[in-house]
Amino acid sequence: MTTIAGSDLSDIEALLGSLGVDAGYARRLLYWIYRRGIKSFDEINDIPAKVLHILSENYVTGLISPVMSEVSVDGSIKYLFSGSRGLNHETVWLPDGKRSTVCVSAQSGCRMGCRFCATGRNGWGGNLTAGEIVNQVVSLPHVVTHIVLMGMGEPGDNIDEVLKACRIFTAEWGLAAGRSKVTVSTVGVTPSVMRLLDETECNITLSLHSPFPEERREVIPAEARWPFAETLDLLMRYENRRKRRFTVAYVMIEGRNDTGRHLDEMKRLLSGTAIRVNLLPYHPVAGDDARSSENSVMMRFKHELVTSGISASVRKSRGGDIYAACGMLAAKTGKKPEIH
Ligand code: SF4
Repeated sequence: MTTIAGSDLSDIEALLGSLGVDAGYARRLLYWIYRRGIKSFDEINDIPAKVLHILSENYVTGLISPVMSEVSVDGSIKYLFSGSRGLNHETVWLPDGKRSTVCVSAQSGCRMGCRFCATGRNGWGGNLTAGEIVNQVVSLPHVVTHIVLMGMGEPGDNIDEVLKACRIFTAEWGLAAGRSKVTVSTVGVTPSVMRLLDETECNITLSLHSPFPEERREVIPAEARWPFAETLDLLMRYENRRKRRFTVAYVMIEGRNDTGRHLDEMKRLLSGTAIRVNLLPYHPVAGDDARSSENSVMMRFKHELVTSGISASVRKSRGGDIYAACGMLAAKTGKKPEIH
């Protein structure tokens, strides 16, 4: 059976045409898939039964419910999905007053191997389809105001499906999320960053973690192939008429990247740009003796950046009690990605 979720409007118009069905039903069908999150065509009540019967002979909606969830004392909830190909992936819902953010995965596992990340240590299962990426938003029992591709996997390593999913998130026939409500986080896969800039209007976050290439390479091996300087250069040169938000994520580790030397280099790199800095606490992974920087150190870093004209914020830690750092629910339950 072929899935409908992950298709765009022109795909569905062509599909209906090929089935001898009026292509005018395409928008209505996508409304039920992307806005109502139906699992079965039987739930549709405004498309003729004859059309639904034709569809159900060879197609399924492709939307699935999570197989497991864990609730944090702070209200955030982590969900585990198991895709049709057995690819386990996690999604975290983070309520914060009127704002409600969902952190979605782009892959089952990850092959970037970042040292501080549980997902990287648990292997790689495979790329998620655009339908599986979109499903993580559509199939949650919550209202969602913001979408971040910051869960398991590197979006830049699955860029075709990520681009499709971004289009579905923002299109009026899709989820119709405002373009400023969708953020893609990347270690800086340069060719994929170029495509994100050219083909979407989403916000982009670069995981930096050290402003020194040789130090960054130790924790983010992808630095050797795609130097962060290339991504920073692309973001700085981009003609940002639509005021897209570009951010650097900086996980702060005591004694490793929170010194005055690091601060000075961050200022040198980012002063005079419109790139913001998000300072994040470190969640230690098993077997790692590194610790998060103290809150006072993070606040000083932020203060110093802000007084240098760089927009900076300290992000609070969420869901530590439910292993909210990516990949940890799958690791905890033993549901590791299957290695192919
Ligand atoms: S931090 Fe992101 S890119 Fe790095 S291993 Fe983890 S999931 Fe992959």
